[in-house]
Amino acid sequence: MGRSCIEKLWDAHEITDLGDGSSLLYIDRVFLHERTGSIALKSLEASGRRVRNPAQVFCTMDHIVDTFPGRTDQTLMPSGTDFITATREAARAAGITVFDLGDPRQGIVHVIAPEQGIAYPGLTLVCPDSHTCTQGALGALAWGIGSTEAEHAMATQTLVVRRPKTMRVVFDGTLSHGVTAKDMILHLIATHGADGGVGYAIEFAGPAVRNMPMEARFTLCNMAVEFGAWTGVIAPDEITYEYVRGRPYAPSAEHWESAETCWRSLVSDDDARFDAELRVNVADIVPTVSWGTSPQHAVGIDETVPDPATEKDVNRRQLMEKALEYMDLKPGVPLEGIPIGAAFIGSCTNSRLSDLRNAAAIVKGKRVAEGVRAIIVPGSGQVKAAAEAEGLDKTFVDAGFEWRESGCSMCFFAGGENFGLETRVVSSTNRNFENRQGPRTRTHIASPTTVAASALRGALTDVRKLV
Ligand code: SF4
Repeated sequence: MGRSCIEKLWDAHEITDLGDGSSLLYIDRVFLHERTGSIALKSLEASGRRVRNPAQVFCTMDHIVDTFPGRTDQTLMPSGTDFITATREAARAAGITVFDLGDPRQGIVHVIAPEQGIAYPGLTLVCPDSHTCTQGALGALAWGIGSTEAEHAMATQTLVVRRPKTMRVVFDGTLSHGVTAKDMILHLIATHGADGGVGYAIEFAGPAVRNMPMEARFTLCNMAVEFGAWTGVIAPDEITYEYVRGRPYAPSAEHWESAETCWRSLVSDDDARFDAELRVNVADIVPTVSWGTSPQHAVGIDETVPDPATEKDVNRRQLMEKALEYMDLKPGVPLEGIPIGAAFIGSCTNSRLSDLRNAAAIVKGKRVAEGVRAIIVPGSGQVKAAAEAEGLDKTFVDAGFEWRESGCSMCFFAGGENFGLETRVVSSTNRNFENRQGPRTRTHIASPTTVAASALRGALTDVRKLV
């Protein structure tokens, strides 16, 4: 019987089948960040163990650092500084590579891992962060772990992992104008629930995925975890190889041919079997925006806020009611036109150069609506530099956006930066649970182009009317 891409990746890294549904897997690369990195590294040191292979362990400063221009180790949240300095110290002592503040390669872990070629097809990669599944877009097996597992992975280059079931999500058809990978994944989650992928590793496949540029594939896989999946994977192809070639930590020219030969064998066999399969025609998808406090609380921008009374499942109905109360919304209100107080383009989901280009094309020559605070946080120092070389920063600043340094802190409330109490934010991030972007902040998840269009109008907007 044929094997799927996920099975091939698993089998290639399986040291031993433990016979209880789990395997001991070889881990190629470990990526840390300052929120949990110092904890894992210090605990490792305290236990008298060391990093087994420092060349395969990397660390960035992204989660707690401020995004203000001219930032330093000092953060708005006083305790943040301790995390930064402790991680730096521990990482240096362990001899691992650190993408520190001031390093042009610094950025959000899931943006810089592919950007630096640290993630590439055929690898296993772990990081103490749930959105590590982003790297699956390259045809790697990548998943989020806890800091104790990170410690174990660093000490042994192995982890015990329960074998997931496999699911294939096939996206057929062609995307309509103004509809993006973000809308595809929000649509999938809204249709099948935030628990629709629980217990599975998902392969995203089909013509709409094959036609997708690499950066959009990252967006798709980034939110596999929001679907409840263990991870998401896209089998590598020419688009993947083109993206990876020449990146600093990717296979060198000397090893490229053998690497590519190996990667080509990762594609799922025609007779591969999956435990579950879903099919979506992307032509049916419109720009999609969340209305509640879970990514499954999302509908098309041309729809209305749903009525919990129509939900048969009691638990879901109660969640909807609670979400509407938190979001201060009433059933039946058209999504388009709901006034916003802020707009955010950033996060590991949508902060890459193509996201910024697409958003800049919407705002060019226009102004952000009066009273709306609009912020751009590029995903990495390299994304920022590339955007500035194209003049995108000027486009955004002229339109009234703030242009920030790379990091996570406007995506989730850790460093102290936030949008203000009860501010309604249209956001290109991946999570919208209560207080995610700050105390009582009301987050509407959307694509970067929907965010840009909404910022101009001062209300949730159907971007198709602007492009
Ligand atoms: S950008 Fe947001 S979602 Fe992504 S790793 Fe940082 S905090 Fe997590």
